[in-house]
Amino acid sequence: MSLSIGRIEARYAALPEGFFAALPPTPVAAPRLIAFNESLAAELGLSVEGLPSEALARLFAGNDIPEGALPIAVAYAGHQFGSFVPQLGDGRAILLGEIRDQSGRLRDIAFKGSGRTPYSRGGDGRAALGPVLREYIVSEAMYALGVPTTRALAAVLTGERVLREQGPLPGAVFTRVAASHLRVGTFQFFAAREDQDSLRALLSFAIDRHDPEAKDASNPALAFLRGVIERQAHLIARWMGLGFVHGVMNTDNMTISGETIDYGPCAFMEAYDPATVFSSIDQFGRYAYGRQAAIAQWNLARLAEALLPLIDEDEERAVKLASEAISGFAHHFHKAYDDVMRMKLGLLKKDEDDTDLVASLLLRMQQKQSDFTLTFRAFAEAVAPDGEGALRSLLGGDDIADQLIARWRERLLREDVSSSDLVARIKSSNPKRIPRNHRVEEAIQAAIMTNDFEPFHRLNRALQNPYADDPAYVAYEAPAAPDERVRVTFCGT
Ligand code: AMP
Ligand code: MG
Repeated sequence: MSLSIGRIEARYAALPEGFFAALPPTPVAAPRLIAFNESLAAELGLSVEGLPSEALARLFAGNDIPEGALPIAVAYAGHQFGSFVPQLGDGRAILLGEIRDQSGRLRDIAFKGSGRTPYSRGGDGRAALGPVLREYIVSEAMYALGVPTTRALAAVLTGERVLREQGPLPGAVFTRVAASHLRVGTFQFFAAREDQDSLRALLSFAIDRHDPEAKDASNPALAFLRGVIERQAHLIARWMGLGFVHGVMNTDNMTISGETIDYGPCAFMEAYDPATVFSSIDQFGRYAYGRQAAIAQWNLARLAEALLPLIDEDEERAVKLASEAISGFAHHFHKAYDDVMRMKLGLLKKDEDDTDLVASLLLRMQQKQSDFTLTFRAFAEAVAPDGEGALRSLLGGDDIADQLIARWRERLLREDVSSSDLVARIKSSNPKRIPRNHRVEEAIQAAIMTNDFEPFHRLNRALQNPYADDPAYVAYEAPAAPDERVRVTFCGT
């Protein structure tokens, strides 16, 4: 059956041979809809009104292919934990095509867990329910928090089991919407093959999609590289400001668009510690919270390497130009990070001493294992002279805590802002609720063990307006009690 849900285009599928393998998703036994994101569907202009849940389930399981779609698995490479893998690709994902959203932006619609492809290597092409729910919750939470991210359009149970380390688990298909699925690793794929024609075609596709101004630059490849660097610097600064740990910053999991992608063993830090790692396979802390900017820069250097032949025919000159662009990452990141952290303290103006104030605060938070989210949010309450109790105790409840708070108060005098505006400012950059890992795990366990999806839906609702005070969701504010703590998140495969 062919269903029309809107004007789906096949732009990536129109690229030359070698960019992808054309194949449909593998149908599943018994599709059942878990979640469908109606507001995102409206944003995309999808015409799905009146479709019963069964039809949506078949559609988002990949059993019915919508009109206009030309399903493909995309080829890419990538550095995984520092080692280069020349051939990765969509081993369990299928790109349905692109759709122009209500604001005129092209968006990819893709499945994850939709069956084997020529890039599956040893994998089964499927996804387990847990990681699908995790990606749904965390990507939508990131969106609500205002962080560039891929989105969750739907999640469907397959009615089939998948075999994982933990044993047989319910299978699911996730539908992802992205500005594009172009990754650093997509460029590496063709660079490793020294296929300059394809590299050029890919660059032109990427520029059209993400950096149209680069087309008219004197050096389009370099202008494009600079664009990616700037977007990623801003993205990582946003992650840092929320205590977000991606977990698997391999070059195949880093987008060209600047959106966060591939939510696997990701989580939000509770007690502040730059060494925080969640992934069970990241034994050496390569992707720890505090290393994310350095890793992003390393990944971008791999993109720069891939682009060298397009930056300049003269290799030496190309290396010089690319290196300068990569050095620019640190500048963009530090600026963005300083802005993010200053805003968290309600500071809009710039003061020489601010970087030190933030560093002193973070050092104290690390020493006292202060909850990252609660501590920053407590600054809003502390604007009132008698409201600093919670903040003081989160910072250790001693003289050093008092000194830090006094230093911040003194700095506020230079801000020229009313108390109520200041409170609003602080609240709008420090969420009240984040997807705390024990809550995510609780939602996943209820779904797996008792087929109860209510905790999943409730958690999604609690995270829709994360900056607002909402008494209905106080239960989602607290960090994990010692017995609830989830230390590692197993890689979502
Ligand atoms: P990820 O860790 O999800 O970013 O995936 C890394 C690579 O492994 C990608 O090429 C995936 O398509 C592939 N992959 C992960 N899980 C599976 C699976 N169950 N079946 C086939 N390929 C997979
Ligand atoms: Mg990936």
